[in-house]
Amino acid sequence: MISYNEALRLVLNSNFNPLSERVKLIDSLGRILAEDIASDINMPPFNKAAMDGFAIREIDIKKELTIIETIAAGQKPSKKIETGYAAKIMTGAPVPEGADFVIQVELSELTNKNTVRFTGHPKNNIIPLAEDVKIGDIVLKKGQLIDARHIAVMASVGCSAPLVYKKPTVGIISTGDEIVEPEIKPSPSQIRNSNGHQLIAQTIQCHAIPHYFGIVNDTYEDTYKAIKNGIDTCDILLITGGVSMGDFDFVPKIMNDLDIKIEFNRVATQPGKPTTFGKKGNKFVFGLPGNPVSSYVQFEILVSPLINKMLGKSPTNPTIKLPLAKDYNRKKSERTAFIPINISDDSLVYTAEYHGSAHIYALPNAQGLAIIPQHIKELKKGELVDVRLF
Ligand code: AMP
Ligand code: MG
Repeated sequence: MISYNEALRLVLNSNFNPLSERVKLIDSLGRILAEDIASDINMPPFNKAAMDGFAIREIDIKKELTIIETIAAGQKPSKKIETGYAAKIMTGAPVPEGADFVIQVELSELTNKNTVRFTGHPKNNIIPLAEDVKIGDIVLKKGQLIDARHIAVMASVGCSAPLVYKKPTVGIISTGDEIVEPEIKPSPSQIRNSNGHQLIAQTIQCHAIPHYFGIVNDTYEDTYKAIKNGIDTCDILLITGGVSMGDFDFVPKIMNDLDIKIEFNRVATQPGKPTTFGKKGNKFVFGLPGNPVSSYVQFEILVSPLINKMLGKSPTNPTIKLPLAKDYNRKKSERTAFIPINISDDSLVYTAEYHGSAHIYALPNAQGLAIIPQHIKELKKGELVDVRLF
């Protein structure tokens, strides 16, 4: 049995070539940039009026000036501003040549149809050419997780098809003669396939692409065929069930027989001890325990960091430190425990009602998992624990 940290290190030590693809701008939402994005324009592209007003020479600010034209946004000025003259200008319009000052309309009064005077000397309302961005400036860096703010920046610099990292494909196989799909009412000896669907959902939440291969019987032949097909077609293969010590737990043997090099088959975590991980070339196989809380937790703590890494993201998911509401103790401490918890309004951590690794009903009512480190048996009220929020 290896520690959780060692298991994570072995998973992340995996070699693969991150592949990238060009996608339409809006389809890059939630993806990771695989290139730097440079601006193809200056922003603003000209000296721009920041307010409706008059473009003048600053030295003329105390004089009565003759208005020579009106410049709308989107329009090019047709005349140079000489001393003694002004152009009426709208917000966003280019400042005409010769003018070095824009004064807002509120501080102007028309002295005649074509003449104007100003009541004050405020700050200049010209936004200089390229104040925000210059041609060639890097506006977004490779590795950036793209949200709406980055979409706006890419749109503004003409990047309509950004290069992003490819989403890995994740194959999902549920094993077990007793497993039936959700639409079937299980007989007393059967159990519904919660794991398969949970793993599909977790895969989508991690921005990877699930391939669901359905339920496979507990025979060597069927399981062998399914795993072989899974590694031939997907980047990562998840198999749930069949990794314990039972007579029909074939997964580790089949991984061996398919030359999938097993890196570990017991991890000091609770839940999820029998988790098995192997590699074949640049394909990765996880044998996850059948109990649904175990399979949920193992995906979050081992599979999702690998997907993150393949997507070009930082692998480990964030945790926060919060104080315990009550003393905590456990009988054995050889494993790192992940326990469902709730957080009170004053940010104290309470352990949630939890009956063990089959108790999936505990998870929707909890707000996160507290991580109790290996070799820690007791924690006192008020001590800080790491919490991974759902
Ligand atoms: P196993 O790892 O195959 O020994 O399974 C351990 C426990 O998890 C057994 O009680 C199984 O019935 C249950 N189990 C296995 N696969 C699933 C699944 N896909 N969905 C829900 N429970 C499962
Ligand atoms: Mg089984």
